[in-house]
Amino acid sequence: MMKAVLILSGGVDSTTLLYKLVDDGYEVHALTFNYAQRHKKEIECAKTIASRLSIIHRVVDLSCVARLLGDSALLGGKDVPCCHYTEDAAKQTVVPNRNMIMLSLAAGYAEAHEIPQIFYAAHKNDSTIYPDCRAEFVEALKPAIRLATAWHPVELCAPFVDLTKAEIVSLGLKLEVPYELTWSCYRGEERPCRSCPTCIEREEAFGINGAKDPLV
Ligand SMILES: [Zn+2]
Repeated sequence: MMKAVLILSGGVDSTTLLYKLVDDGYEVHALTFNYAQRHKKEIECAKTIASRLSIIHRVVDLSCVARLLGDSALLGGKDVPCCHYTEDAAKQTVVPNRNMIMLSLAAGYAEAHEIPQIFYAAHKNDSTIYPDCRAEFVEALKPAIRLATAWHPVELCAPFVDLTKAEIVSLGLKLEVPYELTWSCYRGEERPCRSCPTCIEREEAFGINGAKDPLV
């Protein structure tokens, strides 16, 4: 059986990628990172989703390094913006170099377990905002990871890098992803706030597909 490591946040994109990999016949080892997020709802969602699929799942505690990474709104420093994604809103919600940190650990985990591929769900919407979601970043990191893991070479894969969030949701609806188990909102309240950038983007992605987000 093909094996893959996946960075699973518990949101729409990585959960869709998880269902795609399982559908493609992979045995998935999912890693979820606790970087002292403002709330723990996504992590709890990731646990529920992983147990629903009976896959191997590790929650990696990076809360001790969060204070090195500044005062992002995601870490509870700044206020969560109430608007669509703009450059300013994005800057308030960026955790510096987050994907490189997580991918670096995922590559180490993969090499240790002789798993040949690691996946993460960077996509086109994020690429306009976050530098570590861009195709250039993926292409630059691929050879670095391969060289760093030369004894059991690990390949970095980002199959959604050219897809919009709406296209990801379209795929997920076909794969019957249980989106009611996912969480995106930057505020960890009972229900999604529907006003933060990720809530707006998520609702739009379902709307473009003529579907309703089961959370709203
Ligand atoms: Zn929200």
